[in-house]
Amino acid sequence: MRRKEKIFIVGPCSAESEEQVLEAAASIRAVQAAIDSESTSDSWVVFRAGIWKPRTSPDTFQGAGEPALRWMQRASKQTGLPTATEVATPEHVARALESGITCLWIGARTSANPIAVQAIADAIVTKTMTMTQTMTKTQTIVMVKNPVNEDIDLWIGDVERLEKTGVRVMAIHRGCGHRPCWKMAFEFRRRRPDIPLLLDPSHLSGDANKVAELCQIARTLDFDGLMIEVHPHPEQALSDARQQITPEALRAIMEDTTPASDTLPLLELRKEIDEVDDALWTLIARRMEVSRRIGDYKRERGMAVIQPQRYEQILQERIARAQEQGISEQAIRQIMEAIHTESVRVQL
Ligand code: PEP
Ligand code: MN
Repeated sequence: MRRKEKIFIVGPCSAESEEQVLEAAASIRAVQAAIDSESTSDSWVVFRAGIWKPRTSPDTFQGAGEPALRWMQRASKQTGLPTATEVATPEHVARALESGITCLWIGARTSANPIAVQAIADAIVTKTMTMTQTMTKTQTIVMVKNPVNEDIDLWIGDVERLEKTGVRVMAIHRGCGHRPCWKMAFEFRRRRPDIPLLLDPSHLSGDANKVAELCQIARTLDFDGLMIEVHPHPEQALSDARQQITPEALRAIMEDTTPASDTLPLLELRKEIDEVDDALWTLIARRMEVSRRIGDYKRERGMAVIQPQRYEQILQERIARAQEQGISEQAIRQIMEAIHTESVRVQL
């Protein structure tokens, strides 16, 4: 079976200029047309671009602001694609809806703040009440990304606030920082199976080379869609250049015929690795705690922290034990050295 995802929210991180927006939209439309000519498809493709960018540093590109709304309108008119942009204030909501943007999304920095989300929800109510032709309540969609601070209750609370507006609500798992928090995504699914859940592999990984694989994982996990950053010239992008993929790469992702089951065992194994690593950190932390207590003991008695003979003795013992379990001497030496260095540090 081809392409399980139904919703593709794709386009550049930021609207940078009218030319860039129109070129990006045209290239995405071309991908969509090519895919549709290969088989009948029920995918819904939406053109995204950030206009007001919540950037970490004030010295980076902050988005083109309001003029970019006209570029988006033109892009939509030329390609027929509906559009999506990020909103962070009631003012953004008003301007975006007036300009005919179909999908609004709330970014990971804003979704961590219930007051900001409520203000956005109130603005959606006010605006959709007064809108006549451009957009109606039933057409508008609001998507909420998980907050960067991995708080499932906050994320679900955002969804509930937005549901009260009467517009359609969807959720996007964009990871926490540049790592996935699958547990939170699974928990979201368990608690709100009725809300479509999309994956944003671009912000989740921060790396264009990881996007395709994450899209396969999204298929395996039955996500309802994808939000992917696509730029006609990623290397020239004014924001998130490392994670944006080309339209050609998007086409390969949309054409992917890998059966969902192919990636399932890999995912299961990775989950197991995550659990083992968690257990490792817990054990190492416990070992450091014991080291700290040994340090206190030595200090009270005026003993030296480093006792080379003792270290050599435990190293030999550990090598023998670890080799019995199939771990190479070289590996165990490296691991023990790292642990010993940290042990000495906590004892000082
Ligand atoms: C974005 O989609 O461009 C964005 C800023 O995302 P996030 O809020 O997930 O960082
Ligand atoms: Mn981005």
